[in-house]
Amino acid sequence: MNKIAVFPGSFDPFTIGHESIVKRALPMFDKIVIMVGYNVNKKSFFSLENRVKWINQVFQNEKRIEVIVHEGLTVDFCKEAGARYILRGLRTSSDFEYERAIAQVNKKMHPEIETVFLLTLPEHTPVSATIIRDIVFHGGDASMFLPENIDLKDFKPDSDKQP
Ligand code: ADP
Repeated sequence: MNKIAVFPGSFDPFTIGHESIVKRALPMFDKIVIMVGYNVNKKSFFSLENRVKWINQVFQNEKRIEVIVHEGLTVDFCKEAGARYILRGLRTSSDFEYERAIAQVNKKMHPEIETVFLLTLPEHTPVSATIIRDIVFHGGDASMFLPENIDLKDFKPDSDKQP
């Protein structure tokens, strides 16, 4: 049976931290589905279209990685996709507490699905999408925190967008 993992997130935007987690997890699975969460009630900074396009650019040569958009619970998507693993990254103890609760509730409700955690590389610990949004919003250069194929230099956020 194929080992499929779902890596869910808002990826607003996809960072070197996210990229590293996916690359390191790839040898453990047959396929990784990067699930870009879509929530009608939650405003993102970058458009859904751009977020998906950028992730596809990063993994354009990797056939075992797929990018999809899903509105709703990750576990529901896992069932649809035949995935038995949820992949998440951990940076800090606050990440851990947040992730622990979600993973334990998911496990209680869907015992067949395991959440797998990878610890971030030390140099990626301070990298967060929130900080990148702030840099971009104020016209700074965030390229050192973004995968090589993502170029935000000429990106102009809508004036009504808040990081
Ligand atoms: P969410 O909106 O669900 O928190 P994110 O897009 O912020 O999703 O992150 C998706 C996953 O990637 C989460 O498990 C998060 O902890 C992890 N992650 C985010 N930044 C990093 C990083 N710098 N290093 C490792 N993992 C990270």
